[in-house]
Amino acid sequence: MQRDTYVVRRPFLHWLHQRSNPGLIVNFCFIVVLFFSTLLTWREVIVLEDAYISSQRNHLETVANALDRQLQFSVNKLLFFRHGMSEAIQTPLASGPLHHAVTHFDTLRKTSNWQIALDKNRTLPINGVSDAFVEKTTLLNRDEERLQNELSAALEVGYLLRLALSNRRTEERIVYVSRAGFFLATDTPENPHDISPRYYQLVTQPWFIQQSERKNRARAVRWFIYPGSQFAGNQTLITASVPIYYDHFWYGVLAMDFNVETMKRLLGEATDGYPEGEYQLYDTRLTRIASSQSPNGEASPFNASDMAQIAQAIETDTQGGIRLDSRFISWSRLDHFDGVILRIHTLQEGVRDDFGSISVVLALLWALFSAMLLISWWVIRRMVSNMYSLQHSLQWQAWHDPLTRLLNRGGLFERATKLAEHCQRRSLPFSVIQIDLDRFKSINDRFGHQAGDKVLSHAAGLIASALRTNDVAGRVGGEEFCIVLPGLNLEEARRVAERIRSRIDSKEILVQKSTTLRISASFGVSCAQEKDNYDFEQLQSIADARLYQAKQSGRNRVVWRHHDKK
Ligand code: GH3
Ligand code: MG
Ligand code: MG
Repeated sequence: MQRDTYVVRRPFLHWLHQRSNPGLIVNFCFIVVLFFSTLLTWREVIVLEDAYISSQRNHLETVANALDRQLQFSVNKLLFFRHGMSEAIQTPLASGPLHHAVTHFDTLRKTSNWQIALDKNRTLPINGVSDAFVEKTTLLNRDEERLQNELSAALEVGYLLRLALSNRRTEERIVYVSRAGFFLATDTPENPHDISPRYYQLVTQPWFIQQSERKNRARAVRWFIYPGSQFAGNQTLITASVPIYYDHFWYGVLAMDFNVETMKRLLGEATDGYPEGEYQLYDTRLTRIASSQSPNGEASPFNASDMAQIAQAIETDTQGGIRLDSRFISWSRLDHFDGVILRIHTLQEGVRDDFGSISVVLALLWALFSAMLLISWWVIRRMVSNMYSLQHSLQWQAWHDPLTRLLNRGGLFERATKLAEHCQRRSLPFSVIQIDLDRFKSINDRFGHQAGDKVLSHAAGLIASALRTNDVAGRVGGEEFCIVLPGLNLEEARRVAERIRSRIDSKEILVQKSTTLRISASFGVSCAQEKDNYDFEQLQSIADARLYQAKQSGRNRVVWRHHDKK
């Protein structure tokens, strides 16, 4: 039991000391270096990505601002007309022709289509419908008290509206639609019979209905986009409208139409000088209005799931960016338009620009560094393992005899002294057997040195096979062996010696082609408990003396105590 703990602990310490440390340390160091180099590269990648995203946003902001500036001009104009209208309603011009026109209205108000034109070259005509038309719905209302001022104000502002159209650049049409059954439009119908259907058409448009007191409490400019109407040549119109209020009364709605071509032109002008990346303009319901690519190439398509992702992202933030497959999409809401502008940057474009080449260089450097690290790791690991096996074999050679593969004299002495100390500490018995082959010289003489060597290794094999795991055997001289038996007393050791002796004696050894021979050996046994002396050297010399006695008394025998000389 106690012997076992001794045996178990030593190989473990041996293993820990010899095997684990340098190899593990080399692995650990390389993993740490690889980890930190990867971590650093990764950090660089993140910094680079942030810089890329903000550069994308900058590009987008520049275009969005340019587009916003253009739209702001139109919105400001609309607000200016509203202001003019309110002013004119409050204090109408006291001019004769205006007064005349207002009185003229009284004669016309019952007819279903009527027109009051002052000077068609200077102002827009007022086009109206009958009292009966207005009474059909509560949305419309001819307030007798306010009507005169409103008519006069409309004629007055008509000058401004006509002027706005004469240098028109962006707006398709400007229109004032009154709730009192009349309208002014920069595209006044040629045929008077078209007036009431047109008025009907105007007051049923969302941009009119949605400006009621309840639906637009903020009374702000609102944008409406709806598919083609017959008046706009069946193309999608984009309308900005604003309600006219004075003294808490809703008079009507001022509206400006833009067509899609105009928006495309505006987007084109805003993106002019930014050839890289595609810009797309969307309304609030994410219907595409225009794309910077459309004149030359097809606009980048989004499938339903892409669109859903974009919609979700846009809902949470007024500006930002997301990655869709290999594209990077950044978006920004416009200040003067109810919509979003998207910038689409593909991976191919990304690789071609500065960020792309920096990323490629970074990735290549990382790969190069990692490859070199792996190669050096491999080389060092090989060197370490070669050193191990060399150390191992040198160590083995230092302690062992190559012919018999038993311990050599030095190795045996080392192990035996330690075992003896161990047994002494635990008061265990400790025995030593000395062995010398009989008449070995004559084997050499008769069959040659090689045959002698063969006999030696055969005898060593027999000795080694008779040992328990904790016993140690060594070759201490030419044909002399020594066995150390910790834990065995003299009698037990004698039995071991006797067993080995009879085995050696009984086996035939093939030394040459068809020559076999039998050998024998003499044994001397000693034990530490005889004189309570655990000194290995002394025990060995006692055993040697007994071996000599065995030789003297005829060889091939075991002597374990001193015989008196005969
Ligand atoms: P005995 O011990 O019975 O008295 O007779 P012996 O012939 O064995 O006598 P001794 O022990 O004196 O002789 C030892 C011989 O062993 C001497 C030498 O020739 C031989 N010998 C020693 N080492 C080796 C070796 O490594 N190989 C071979 N082949 N022979 C060896
Ligand atoms: Mg001998
Ligand atoms: Mg000898």
